[in-house]
Amino acid sequence: MSRKHEEELKSRLEKESGYIVHQFGGRMKFALAYPNFYRVGMSNLGIHIIYELLNLRGDTSCERFFLPEMKTLADMEKSNTTLLSMETQMPLNKFEVVGFSVSFEPDYFNVVKMLQLGKVKVRADERTKFDPIVIAGGPCATFNPIPLSKIFDAFVIGEGEVILPKFMDVMQETKNLPREKILEKLSEVEGIFVPKFPKKVSRQWLKNLDDFPAHSVIQTSDTEFNMYLIETARGCGRHCRFCMAGYCFRKPRNRSLGVLKAEVEDAEKFQKKIGLAGAAISDYPQINELCKFILEKNLPMSVASFRADSVTFELVQALAKSGLKTLTVAPEVGSEKMRKVINKGITEENIFSAVEFGFKAGIKNIKLYFMIGLPFEDMEDVDAIADLTLRLKKFSDENGGGKLTLSVNPFIPKPFTPFQWSPMAEKKYLDSALKNLRGKLKKFRDVEIISESIKSAEIQAILARGDEKISELVAKSDSMKKFKELLRENNIDENFYLRRERNFDEIFAWDFINMGFSKKYLFDELKRAEDFKNTAPCFENCKRCGVCDF
Ligand code: SF4
Ligand code: SF4
Repeated sequence: MSRKHEEELKSRLEKESGYIVHQFGGRMKFALAYPNFYRVGMSNLGIHIIYELLNLRGDTSCERFFLPEMKTLADMEKSNTTLLSMETQMPLNKFEVVGFSVSFEPDYFNVVKMLQLGKVKVRADERTKFDPIVIAGGPCATFNPIPLSKIFDAFVIGEGEVILPKFMDVMQETKNLPREKILEKLSEVEGIFVPKFPKKVSRQWLKNLDDFPAHSVIQTSDTEFNMYLIETARGCGRHCRFCMAGYCFRKPRNRSLGVLKAEVEDAEKFQKKIGLAGAAISDYPQINELCKFILEKNLPMSVASFRADSVTFELVQALAKSGLKTLTVAPEVGSEKMRKVINKGITEENIFSAVEFGFKAGIKNIKLYFMIGLPFEDMEDVDAIADLTLRLKKFSDENGGGKLTLSVNPFIPKPFTPFQWSPMAEKKYLDSALKNLRGKLKKFRDVEIISESIKSAEIQAILARGDEKISELVAKSDSMKKFKELLRENNIDENFYLRRERNFDEIFAWDFINMGFSKKYLFDELKRAEDFKNTAPCFENCKRCGVCDF
């Protein structure tokens, strides 16, 4: 038994304020697990929202679990120490419900690792009445739960605020029933998918964000971003064709300014940087007024992301005043043709004016996000990324100079996007695209290219569009390395998942989920991409995709 884990948890807890400890007294024990390190999980607003939602119920006690730091984890494995909760250092297997929030595919392996450490059986079909009900929510559970279906007893499809209260009601009502019956009852709840009792599931969404103000609940300095997070909006109506979040969390919804101002006032006592969270912060209609309000309170601020076409000088200036040193812009592509393919809706002028705002406000380091290997792309489009970078460099040099960092990553086709039918680009092409870019830009000392490994992107792509066969392997993989070995040992044809052209009428593993729009709608968008046609963003009274009537 390693004491180190317990000590680490206690020392972290001492640095926190706002955590909740209930005397159990009949409350159902819910383990809220984030499949990554504490500092990453605590920067995830979803964890704070669910933590508060569950603990406000009179019948539930929710405690947090995170992946231990690498060194502690190795000690725990050696000494067979069980994974403990943050709040009361209780073992994971003592909880009645274990709920994971899964945001990224590489974290699937951390789910397996945490269940192993918590001495909870990894496979759903091996659990008995003595084991917890293990559920998953978050973006990955919503867009394709099947690659995780051998692990989880149930999935929350959509937004937790709407589904979890009903989930907990059923858990309370059925707590004395056999496990099988509990799962059957859960499968009857709207928005819950139980692999043992498969059915069509409709994604659930919160219609009025003001009903649930969302902000950091627990304060600590030990996070990736030491900020007080406030969610301004949810969903996005921009229709970028590569973006899973844009499709799965439609429609766009804003919190009213009054509610946000009240949240800022609540945050004042912590005197921390305010982090505005949401899909595209600059799209928030009263963003300037909100920034002004925050700055008047003498609080620094930061934003999760902004769009180059809606960013205002006031917003950039507010970020600069708050100490922002690097402006992040996501052109995604370099050519006009590809801008039409992805339907991002920003022009080169927008990119330049965002950078100009940055320079005017004193921010001279620019980070640019690009993708390579998108559908309908060729090497000329990659050249266009280099050309755009050079034009930006010229602008930068003429205005006193700064550093340009390009984050260039392989495009991963995701379920519920128009590119769900598209093959991932060949490794050879991706390699040469990167080589081409590096070659064109290497002589400039103040231009840096960073990129994730192609193999790791391929694994993410296999998981994103994975099926039951992949789920069998995921359930045995507590690391990406192990998963790669299993792919090899089981003679899995990776190209079946990665590089196959899919027909319109192919039935996908995730087709049983109703997102509110039809498959035909997505396919028409794919055709529009092929024809380089733009699609307009969401607008008032629009009925185009069906989500607003859903
Ligand atoms: S603006 Fe585009 S990329 Fe950004 S969240 Fe919206 S749909 Fe996704
Ligand atoms: S129906 Fe129109 S406004 Fe509503 S989500 Fe779909 S495209 Fe957007």
